[in-house]
Amino acid sequence: MPEKVVIIGSGPAAWTAAIYAARAALEPLVYEGAATEENRLRGTLPLGQLALTTEVENYPGFPAGDLSAYLLDSLADDKSYLADMHQKEGVSGPELMELMRQQAINFGTRVMTDDIADVDFDARPFHLRALGGDEVEARTVIVATGARANYLGIESEERFKNKGVSACAVCDGALPRFRNKPLVVVGGGDSAVEESDYLSKFASIVYMVHRRDALRASKIMAQRAMENKKIDIVWNSVVDEVLGNDTDGVTGVRLKSTIDDNSRELEISGFFLAIGHTPNTGFLAGKLEMTEKKYLKWTVPFRTNTSVEGVFAAGDVADDYYRQAVTAAGSGCMAALDAERYLAAKGL
Ligand code: NAP
Repeated sequence: MPEKVVIIGSGPAAWTAAIYAARAALEPLVYEGAATEENRLRGTLPLGQLALTTEVENYPGFPAGDLSAYLLDSLADDKSYLADMHQKEGVSGPELMELMRQQAINFGTRVMTDDIADVDFDARPFHLRALGGDEVEARTVIVATGARANYLGIESEERFKNKGVSACAVCDGALPRFRNKPLVVVGGGDSAVEESDYLSKFASIVYMVHRRDALRASKIMAQRAMENKKIDIVWNSVVDEVLGNDTDGVTGVRLKSTIDDNSRELEISGFFLAIGHTPNTGFLAGKLEMTEKKYLKWTVPFRTNTSVEGVFAAGDVADDYYRQAVTAAGSGCMAALDAERYLAAKGL
């Protein structure tokens, strides 16, 4: 028998879709991604972007305070170590993802720890092939594979991930290690301005390092950066090396000029990337309509429909604008309801 709903992904959009689909007796099957070295290096391991963050202070329902007793009670035994990370800030990203996953499983969701490598959306039911070789048929598919933050790709950046290197100011900016300290944001687009502006509330100064002499950001955002006394735009420069040690994490960066041979060092405590995101849609090339930047296209206003009837998209894989855990979860709920109504309308 074909599956009623297959969900691809394992961030807040995927688990919320699974919770709703399971409660609607659709017995969802989730492909949460494969735990491979390749996925680790690309930042696409199971549980998504939130699993790469620390405290999550803006997800409703998880106020600051010691929630460890609750977490210990709610998490599977082999995940109880996660509760140790949580003391007085909001819930941590990895905990939140484990809790959502557990909630989906509690309602009967089945989980495969594998990637979907190929899809045939011309066939009815749809045909999916997993990396490990599984073949699955599905009446509806919810794609919730998210988007990964772009990094520069230098070795020292990788070494200090979670020790001062971050690609999400909103997730990590308020952490004690960044407070009243000089920070660097790399990029010259709207995200870089937004992240710099946000970080400037906590930092002593934010150096916004941009490789050209003009910002890509919209006029209003560019003006915001120029007018903020705590943002110092470092023009025509790229980061050559992130400096630091195992005890303190990031302590500085070496900058290289893009117009001459000069280089210099800046003392900083945090290094933030805002050089764009890449949606995880490579395996869907030619199968679903995408935007110029390869995000999935929602084809019906205020619905999660894609260009193929019966295939729905939720979360950052289709949303390059809000990119928040709570908005992803919201669209995951919508996708499950859209799938349920589609199945009912088709009598499937
Ligand atoms: P973006 O507009 O693509 O800007 C990326 C920035 O990173 C560019 O300045 C680019 O430099 C720089 N960059 C890219 N690769 C780099 C590298 N390897 N090394 C150094 N610098 C690099 O991306 P975004 O800022 O994330 O914005 C994405 C979309 O979301 C845009 O449409 C934006 O308007 C929208 N957005 C809107 C808001 C808002 O309105 N509040 C906030 C955030 C995002 P170059 O300029 O030299 O290419």
